[in-house]
Amino acid sequence: MVTDRPDPGLYPPDRLDRAAAASAEAGLAALLLTPGPDLRYLTGYDAPQLERLTCLAVPAAPAGGKPFLVVPRLELPAAHASPAGGLDIEIIPWDETDDPYALVAQRLGALPGPVGLSDRMWALMVLRLRDALPGARQELASAALRGMRIRKTPAEVAALRAAGEAIDRVHARVPDWLRPGRTERQVAADIADAIIGEGHARVDFTIVASGPNAASPHHEVSDRVLLAGDAVVVDIGGTMPSGYCSDCTRTYMIGEPPPEFAAYYRVLRDAQQAAFAAVRPGVTAEAVDAAARGPIAAAGYGGYFVHRTGHGIGLESHEDPYIVSGNTEPLEPGMAFSIEPGIYPGPHGARIEDIVVCTEQGGERLNNVTRKLICVDAT
Ligand code: ZN
Ligand code: ZN
Ligand code: ZN
Repeated sequence: MVTDRPDPGLYPPDRLDRAAAASAEAGLAALLLTPGPDLRYLTGYDAPQLERLTCLAVPAAPAGGKPFLVVPRLELPAAHASPAGGLDIEIIPWDETDDPYALVAQRLGALPGPVGLSDRMWALMVLRLRDALPGARQELASAALRGMRIRKTPAEVAALRAAGEAIDRVHARVPDWLRPGRTERQVAADIADAIIGEGHARVDFTIVASGPNAASPHHEVSDRVLLAGDAVVVDIGGTMPSGYCSDCTRTYMIGEPPPEFAAYYRVLRDAQQAAFAAVRPGVTAEAVDAAARGPIAAAGYGGYFVHRTGHGIGLESHEDPYIVSGNTEPLEPGMAFSIEPGIYPGPHGARIEDIVVCTEQGGERLNNVTRKLICVDAT
């Protein structure tokens, strides 16, 4: 059995105790976490999401008991081999004819308050836990875990930095694959191979939006053939073996840019830089959004910037904090998020995206591949 125990600094063993304390503070009696980012954050266990129940129960401190992990018997060796096996957690297997929900309820006993369920738990499990624990109101585990996950530790920032470097290496190779006559899908396949080749464990998305498709912010990929004169928005990301995600957008040009494109691309670059320069502790998330929007609106393209400026990133590629008008949360050191303004006037569009982490001194970019417009040979 391969044991894959990553940097203990990345998944420190005291997280369970801190989560138990945070649960009490949030008024929860226990956390119930099925496979996904919350479970991985607390234990390092990258458990598969199956119809069979895997569930970590973390009773709130100090009244509750010790955390325990209920797993299908066939997952027991993997659970023991995972970082969870090195933690002070009782791992309890269940057999095919057992009722694992009843097992969880029986081990928890009478609960003095609500349970916090992992935000990404399947409805299948939410409803069965509701039946098994009829006295416990269900809330979101993020009530307890959000405050922990949103402030990245130095080890987490290092993991995000490694993810950023890996996706930068992919972007550095993209110009080679953008040739007139190739399709978006062919380019995306090259990118997917390189995302793995440059060190990710999983490809999360490969957006290749060319020509008129570049004017659609969440266009993914199609069989459209690349043509000379196309702008191509390439927004790509994956998950590293550490569990941490990358996400970076660059806009490329095939041949020479139309003058109106060159004009707003320059505005976009300034806007992305202005938002980056606004990052420091105490500045609100919405002030960073406003800093990106300012130069774009001033140049008359405000109506073409149709999405928020960014999203947090960590074990999920979209998580708190969201960089959006209305989010008055002040930035703190350790918060990591994208800054990705876009301008989509049609018949083309552009977006530039970097992951940025807030430090005591200001922002640190985790993507450093050039933001200059790269024009590839159209012949
Ligand atoms: Zn997105
Ligand atoms: Zn992106
Ligand atoms: Zn993004």
